[in-house]
Amino acid sequence: MNVQFFMPTKVIMGKDCIAANAGELAALGKKALIVTGRNSAKANGSLADVIAALSANGQKFEIFDKVMSNPTIDCVYDGAKAARDAGADFIVAIGGGSPMDAAKGIALLARQDIPREELFSGKYPNDVLPMAFVPTTAGTGSEVTPYSILTNDKLQTKTSIASPLIFPKIAFLDAKYTEGLSKATAINTAIDALSHSVEGMLSTRANRLTDCLAAESIEGIFSCMDSLKTGKLSFEEREMLLYSSMLGGMVIAHTGTTAVHSMGYSLTYFRDIDHGRANGLLLGDFLKLVEKTFPAKVSEIVSFGGLSSAEEFKARLSDLLGEKESFAHDELEKYADIAVNAKNVKNGIVVPTKEEILSIYQNSLME
Ligand code: NAP
Ligand code: ZN
Repeated sequence: MNVQFFMPTKVIMGKDCIAANAGELAALGKKALIVTGRNSAKANGSLADVIAALSANGQKFEIFDKVMSNPTIDCVYDGAKAARDAGADFIVAIGGGSPMDAAKGIALLARQDIPREELFSGKYPNDVLPMAFVPTTAGTGSEVTPYSILTNDKLQTKTSIASPLIFPKIAFLDAKYTEGLSKATAINTAIDALSHSVEGMLSTRANRLTDCLAAESIEGIFSCMDSLKTGKLSFEEREMLLYSSMLGGMVIAHTGTTAVHSMGYSLTYFRDIDHGRANGLLLGDFLKLVEKTFPAKVSEIVSFGGLSSAEEFKARLSDLLGEKESFAHDELEKYADIAVNAKNVKNGIVVPTKEEILSIYQNSLME
């Protein structure tokens, strides 16, 4: 049996875990740059909790609250300048995947000058500023991954910085911050987490341990499906989603994602469809394709959701996602051309051809 596992992030989960573990931040440095989005961290109490913890430790901070959804390369260069100007020696990221991913790029660029064309090389001479992460959506698992995914206008898609250097040192998971999520964001982010765990099981890099985490994550997310649909999630369900999202992150930290994410990036880049929703629209049809060659594997995956086929899985997601956007044939051809060249497509146990990618787009989006 071949198993490798590396997860250097300390995870602390529980209600009020930042206040209860404020001392954990003390070891990270003297002055923090808090990296966050424009509004949500102020509204959900996470920013106040972080500031209280830093203040209790006598640590200084400045706030960079300019991270937009699907952060740009410019944003991370701006953030790195802010970190240097502030003299920050560590980073606290608060928010969904966008601020967390931007923070990783900022932590990297604050410690070294990297020309834009080499940002995604994965090879960096220096280390990065230490990071503490506070996820406030339950979806990306970015708090436990070595990836920072940025909008890449040159390639008209999203591109990842991937390096073990950018694992955060510590992650605080408190589901109380997710209580104000809109119903749509709660659904889309939960589906992102589901996609990570399902794609992880369909990766050539999966192993017994990552499958174990993925199974737990898929089960956890399906246990919340009915409440996601009604928009009435209990606190325990919010915790289950946050926990399952973290597990999905641990899975893709080892397996990477597959064709689903590569295909979803075009829906986000060209049509501004939320990342998780983009994956959810395509995941069922990708599973149907894989089912043709690996029926037992797909049967195992859908069984964690109490289902018996990829078709049933697709129907369950469609029910949650509601009415679909409309697409023209030419548009989907262009997306298929882009996706077929994406690195992660080759990561799956089934590597779809361009024709198969186009069929997945059509069956998912034009039916
Ligand atoms: P997001 O873009 O971080 O946030 C979406 C929206 O939700 C924003 O408007 C944000 O507002 C708001 N929001 C965040 N937390 C909230 C809360 N607790 N209550 C109310 N509103 C809240 O969305 P996301 O889906 O979490 O992240 C998507 C990004 O993560 C994409 O760029 C994707 O590529 C990336 N991703 C990364 C990984 C990885 O391994 N690194 C994996 C999957 C996805 P504010 O802007 O005001 O904060
Ligand atoms: Zn994702």
